[in-house]
Amino acid sequence: MQGICLLGATGSIGQSTLDIIAQHPEKFTLVNASANESVDKMAEICRRFKPLRVVMGSQQARDELAYKCQGLAISFEWGEEALDSIASDSAVDQVMAAIMGFAGLKPTLAGIRAGKRTLLANKESLVTAGKLFMDEVARHDVMLLPIDSEHNAIYQSLPQTSHGAHQQDVSKILLTASGGPFRSWTLDEMKFVTPEQACKHPNWSMGQKISIDSASLMNKGLELIEACWLFDVTPNQVDVVVHPESIIHSMVSYLDGSVIAQMGNPDMKIPIAYGMSWPNRIETSVPPLNLVDVARLNFESPDLMRFPNLKLASDAWFMGGTAMAVLNATNEIAVTAFLNRQIGFLDIARLNERVLMAANIVAVNDLDDVFEADRYSRQLALGMISSGNFS
Ligand code: NAD
Ligand code: MG
Repeated sequence: MQGICLLGATGSIGQSTLDIIAQHPEKFTLVNASANESVDKMAEICRRFKPLRVVMGSQQARDELAYKCQGLAISFEWGEEALDSIASDSAVDQVMAAIMGFAGLKPTLAGIRAGKRTLLANKESLVTAGKLFMDEVARHDVMLLPIDSEHNAIYQSLPQTSHGAHQQDVSKILLTASGGPFRSWTLDEMKFVTPEQACKHPNWSMGQKISIDSASLMNKGLELIEACWLFDVTPNQVDVVVHPESIIHSMVSYLDGSVIAQMGNPDMKIPIAYGMSWPNRIETSVPPLNLVDVARLNFESPDLMRFPNLKLASDAWFMGGTAMAVLNATNEIAVTAFLNRQIGFLDIARLNERVLMAANIVAVNDLDDVFEADRYSRQLALGMISSGNFS
């Protein structure tokens, strides 16, 4: 029986993870869970899965939850320290890192430092603190399994050992992208799109932030950096390929000319189940892939003129140091501002570029450097938004 700590239980990845736990009660049990503010959703999870400890983002949310769940033998807690503590708890075997954004970094690291198998959905933590993050994974000999569908596909397509995948004889990584809802739109057409339009992903159902990132291709930018850290390559060894059907989830190209791809219906339960059951496989409720129904798989190059975020991510990688934390923080601010209708869709990439160029990029020696870059960039971005001084 594997004890799961589910960070971000009320989100989209959280829900899919709970589905897998519910389908395999003899293999997995939810021991700890967290959410930020969604009290009602969390109350339902508590009644259904009866975890031991639950952490909310604020005291008020904790109190409301405890009130709604009277009679259940659960420890209701709140705040950052409690979040670190449920990830490193002795009852936990696997941590599913499914918090949205930079807020996921500290608890994910807490689980890694406690030696827990880490299922990484929260790409922002790896993007911002990449080298420190991977050093901690190595130091604590942690099994790190990528849950992001592309990285999970790459992982599955790499040569396997009993300790995980390795990179031998690989020539390139082919990172697929759906292209998002505006793949074939002109810049003029994208100028006035609404948050509702941007959130409507053609193939995947996901949280709001990653949906906007998919529409602006920042998601692919973050994933490019994520792939570089995970698989020890540079952006020069990663080709982004737009594949609108999202059936091939990514590929690995080998020295001899072989290309290995992982395919499946676009449903996050597949990579989640893979991570939870590795090195074995377990059933999911995802319907089998019917290639005759799919009929055609298409591929094209990404357009960096219309989607500059992808280029910015590669630039940030080569700038190194805190550049990736700066880009991520700015993008989080930009996405929130777009969702609040304070800025337009195309302003997201504009703001990202402005802050990345204006920021003082320094080397990352410890976690404080990453947090300082995050704080500083948010402030810079918010200042530019309120003065309108970035387009
Ligand atoms: P979501 O918005 O649906 O859920 C986010 C979860 O994190 C919620 O439980 C929320 O309560 C919690 N949360 C949000 N802000 C928080 C904060 N400041 N402190 C503590 N908890 C907080 O997001 P999602 O779509 O499930 O994505 C989660 C992560 O997984 C993201 O990093 C995303 O990039 C990654 N991811 C998601 C998908 C997907 O299909 N949804 C695919 C690949 C990767
Ligand atoms: Mg992805």
